[in-house]
Amino acid sequence: MMRQYELVERVRRYNPNTDEALLDRAYVYAMRAHGTQKRASGDPYFSHPLEVAAILTDLKLDDATIVAALLHDTIEDTETTREEIDRIFGPQIGALVEGLTKIKKLDLVSKQAKQAENLRKLLLAIADDVRVLLVKLADRLHNMRTLKWVPEEKRSRVAQETLDIYAPLAGRMGMHDMREELEDLSFRQLSPEAYDSIRTQLQVLKEKNGEMVAAIERELSDAVAQKGLSAVVKGREKRPYSIWRKMEQKSIAFEQLSDIYGFRILVEKTEECYAALGVVHTKWPLVPGRFKDYISTPKQNDYRSLHTTIVGPGRQRVELQIRTRQMHEIAEYGIAAHALYKDANGADMLTRDSSAYAWLRRTIELLAEGSSPEEFLEHTKLELFHDQVFCFTPKGRLIILPRRATPIDFAYAVHTGVGDRAVGAKVNGKISPLVSELQNGDEVEIITSNAQTPPAAWESIVVTGKARAAIRRATRAAVRAQYAGLGKKIVERAVVRAGKAFSEEKLAAAAGRLARHSLEDVYAAVGRGEMRADDVVKAIYPEWTGPRPEERAAPKGEGWFELEQGQSLKFKIPGIESDPDPKTAIPIRGINRELPVRFAPNGGAVPGDRIVGILTPGEGITVYPIQSPALQDFEEEPERWLDVRWDVDENDPQRFPVQIVVVAINEPGSLAQIAQVIGERDGNIENLRMSSRSADFHRMVIDIGVYDLRHLNGIIADLRARPVVSSVERVNG
Ligand code: MN
Repeated sequence: MMRQYELVERVRRYNPNTDEALLDRAYVYAMRAHGTQKRASGDPYFSHPLEVAAILTDLKLDDATIVAALLHDTIEDTETTREEIDRIFGPQIGALVEGLTKIKKLDLVSKQAKQAENLRKLLLAIADDVRVLLVKLADRLHNMRTLKWVPEEKRSRVAQETLDIYAPLAGRMGMHDMREELEDLSFRQLSPEAYDSIRTQLQVLKEKNGEMVAAIERELSDAVAQKGLSAVVKGREKRPYSIWRKMEQKSIAFEQLSDIYGFRILVEKTEECYAALGVVHTKWPLVPGRFKDYISTPKQNDYRSLHTTIVGPGRQRVELQIRTRQMHEIAEYGIAAHALYKDANGADMLTRDSSAYAWLRRTIELLAEGSSPEEFLEHTKLELFHDQVFCFTPKGRLIILPRRATPIDFAYAVHTGVGDRAVGAKVNGKISPLVSELQNGDEVEIITSNAQTPPAAWESIVVTGKARAAIRRATRAAVRAQYAGLGKKIVERAVVRAGKAFSEEKLAAAAGRLARHSLEDVYAAVGRGEMRADDVVKAIYPEWTGPRPEERAAPKGEGWFELEQGQSLKFKIPGIESDPDPKTAIPIRGINRELPVRFAPNGGAVPGDRIVGILTPGEGITVYPIQSPALQDFEEEPERWLDVRWDVDENDPQRFPVQIVVVAINEPGSLAQIAQVIGERDGNIENLRMSSRSADFHRMVIDIGVYDLRHLNGIIADLRARPVVSSVERVNG
């Protein structure tokens, strides 16, 4: 634990006029007040306020702030009263400690709609004296650094509050370092796997790049020095959380991040910033669109700097910040840096020239105008967290989301199970699309259905990592289930074809022989085309010698597709006859959720057609009508052919797309007649294009939706019966 004289010494280093007696008094007072109290770690409680004070000495803060830090938990946790502090340390410090006591109890992630009111109290306490916030942030930082001692069930809540409220607040006050450390500590608690993975990848990168950072530092320094500028160049690795956020925002992988490293050039005077920029831009190509001048236009939190990205030494993309030392202090310490230039007046000087503080004041004025907590939320908190939106569940629970978030993100933020089953949303009581953009203050109710699994397309719509990961997981599980379903059907049929009885028990016992852990794994592998069904049969029945040789490979040669109208075909693909085998053919019921089935793009299979399936590894079954010439491409791979049959639900007729070519006499009204015939027959024209046109005839390609082959043939017959129609043919892709 830090000794009394050590603390005084730390302060004296940056503030020679420090009131040592005051610091000593506070040290002793707080130590006595906390007495034998212990922290969760077993350390004396007093070590905590002492560490908080130490953090504030790093920010070079004034005596009152350091003293308030030492005393910050006394009113709340000990016998101490405000009056006593006023009497011993003066009313200014008394007010600071009381402010800290007030905000200590504010729960900023509470489930009730209390957040608005609590945040308002927090901002009010800060507005009285911004040093309250500085002590509070240091307090939170120390608590986050020692989070592992906090009972497990409380940790995530503290971390969430830190990430949602205190880190952005630190950022808004320009305290960059504080913000980054708070974010990283929270991130580590809330997403330990992501945190570890980024740390590991950073380590790998460091080993790979070796001295690269030092080399770039050197080369940048030399270049600037050659122009007679004295500058300090410093390279650094970005923090895990900021890397993570970038990956999230841009939806990219770690490897795709080009700017893991940032470099800083510190100079003395403002004009030297521009001179250094000139040197850098002359020597290396710049990445367009990345230059920003925050010196002539400072950020709202007083941040000033030049930003640029160059293709630097070793063709490495290098992000550069160029600033003076004073700008640097403000960039690192924000509002706290103003204390550096303070005199005995403390707080007054602390807040002078600070536009961050001006922002705080404006916010508080808005409050004073008597707006309701909800209105306050609407107008001000939003400004604080300008990259976030605040929404509520119908029960008033606050859900904080990044800008551009959708009800899908909201659903996943509430609970993964809610997201996975979301089918619709009510925003402020009105049915709204799941892909709409949420606005501040929206009340969102998610409508769920147990039959739902999230569509894969959502992955590119959502903006939160939680939603994206969950959707990916759910889609993967759904796809896997599809393949397993398909694989099961293929295996069952292969077993029957081999003349055996299918038994899942036997197959489960054989899974190990196939180097798979479970039945599901075997099915999925077969469904994906990674494992042959015959090999599975062999694993169950080792005595089975495989398909008869004549079945194994189809003889090459003539007569494969002896097509006739009416489809009497001679087949030489093993297991495929002119009619599907009712026992082994896989039933196809349009596009369904249980099987990874698609229809050949130009094939136009309709119920009634003899269809076959072609298994494509990783894609599932593509269904072709047997007359499709495209099937010739698969002649050489008999093992990919699957016997399939229609299994349409007659009570729920579905339309299937098919293409016909109509040649008609070129006369006025002929097109109308054709459309009329199709319409009368309940065909649905989905697309029509004139493929050629002569003086006498025109040729049309028409996509129609029909229920089955009979329906199609009826339409074709009716069309042919029309005098204007010269010919009608079905297209087989
Ligand atoms: Mn504390």
